[in-house]
Amino acid sequence: MKFRFFGGADEVGGLAVMLEDGFGKVMFDYGLIPRDPPIYPLQAPPVDEIVLTHAHVDHSGMIPWLTSRYPVKVHGTMPTKDVGRLLMLDSIKVAKMEGFPEPYEPGDVDDAMKLFQVERFGHAFEIGGTEFIPRMAGHIPGAAMHEIRADRNVLFTGDIHTAETRLVHGAEDVKTDVMVVESTYAGREHPDRKKTESELVDRVNEIVGRGGQAILPAFAVGRTQELLMILGKTGLNIWVDGMGRKVNAIYNRSRDYVSSATDLRKACVSAYEVETNEDRYHSDRADVIVTTSGMLDGGPALGYIERIKNDPKSGILISGFQVEESNGYRLLSTGHLEINGVLEKINCEVSRFDLSAHAGHSEIVSFVNRCDPETVILVHGDGDKRKLLADEFDGRKVFMPKKGDSLEL
Ligand SMILES: [Zn+2]
Repeated sequence: MKFRFFGGADEVGGLAVMLEDGFGKVMFDYGLIPRDPPIYPLQAPPVDEIVLTHAHVDHSGMIPWLTSRYPVKVHGTMPTKDVGRLLMLDSIKVAKMEGFPEPYEPGDVDDAMKLFQVERFGHAFEIGGTEFIPRMAGHIPGAAMHEIRADRNVLFTGDIHTAETRLVHGAEDVKTDVMVVESTYAGREHPDRKKTESELVDRVNEIVGRGGQAILPAFAVGRTQELLMILGKTGLNIWVDGMGRKVNAIYNRSRDYVSSATDLRKACVSAYEVETNEDRYHSDRADVIVTTSGMLDGGPALGYIERIKNDPKSGILISGFQVEESNGYRLLSTGHLEINGVLEKINCEVSRFDLSAHAGHSEIVSFVNRCDPETVILVHGDGDKRKLLADEFDGRKVFMPKKGDSLEL
C-alpha cells in the first residue's frame, strides 16, 4: 500500500492523505488551513473515491474543489455532511470578505453534496471490494475514524478525543496493523476537564454576580453546543449568536451522534437565539453570550466585546485554541483586540479555559497502545513536536511524513 501526503502531515490542519492499494486511490480528507491567506493542500491527481472524517474546514474545506474535478463518491456521516456544507459555503464567504480568490463556487458545494454517501458508525461500506468501517472518533458529533480491512488493517483516525465530553463519547479502540493518527497535542497535556468546567461555571457566576456580562467566544461547531451544555444548569440568561445556531439545529437532529440528545436539546432550548440586529442592540439584557468567532477574527463576538470592553465587572472567557496570528491570541498575549480595523485596549477581565476537542499527549499514547499497530504514521502535528510522540512508541515502526511525501508499506 502507498500513502501520499498532500497536506496536514507536518502541519496542524489542511489534512489530505491518499491511500492507494488494491481497492484503488482513496483520498482521506481534503482540507484547508483558514489563515491569511488560506493554506491549501497540494493539487491532487485523479482519485477513485473520497472518505471524509469530519466537518471541520481543515479536513473538509477543499472537498468541493476536488469533486468539481473528479466527481466521485464522498463517504461521511450525516452530521459531517450537513455541517460540512455550512462550513464550505462559509469558506467562500470568508474568501470574498478577505479579498482572496474563492477556491470554488456555491454550485460546487451543491454538487459535492449530491456525491455524498451517508455512512453510519459500525456499518461497513465497500470501495473496490474492500470493507471500510466508520468508527466513533470523539472530537465533534459525527467525527469518524475509518477502519480499512485490507491485507493489513489500516486505521485512519482524523481528529480524535478519547475522553468523554458533555457533547460526545470518546474514540473507540480499534485493533489495527497500520495507524495514521493525528498529533495536534504532541508534547502537551490537558487539565482535568470536569475541574475546568466547574472553574468556568464559577467564573461566569462570579462575573454575573458582580453585575457584569460574560462573553464566551466559541467555535460554531462543537464548542458552542458544549458551552451551552456546561452552562445550561446555571439558570442564567444565556444568549447564543453566530453560525453555532445553525449547528445546534443540525446536532439536535443527529441524536445518534451526541452523548445525550436530551441534555443537548434542553441546553439549546434554554438559550435565547439572537436573530436580528435589534436583538443585538438589546444584548445588555443577557448574562452570558456564547458567540462566534472562536478566535475573535470577526463574527458577532467583536460587536458584543465593543460594548463591555471598558467594564471591569464584565469578562471575556476564551475556551478554544488560538492560533498565533489570530485576534484571540493577540488578546491573550497583549490585552489588545483589533475591532473594525482599530487596535483597542481591552480593560475587562480576560480568562482562558482549556476545553480542547483533541486528545492530549498521554491520551494519544494510550490510545495508540490500545489499538496496538505495528506501524504508526503521525500526521496533523507540528513537525518537531511529533518527535515527542514518536519517542513513546518503542517497538513500533514510526513515520513522520512531510507535505508532499510518499510512503510505501
Ligand atoms: Zn477537527
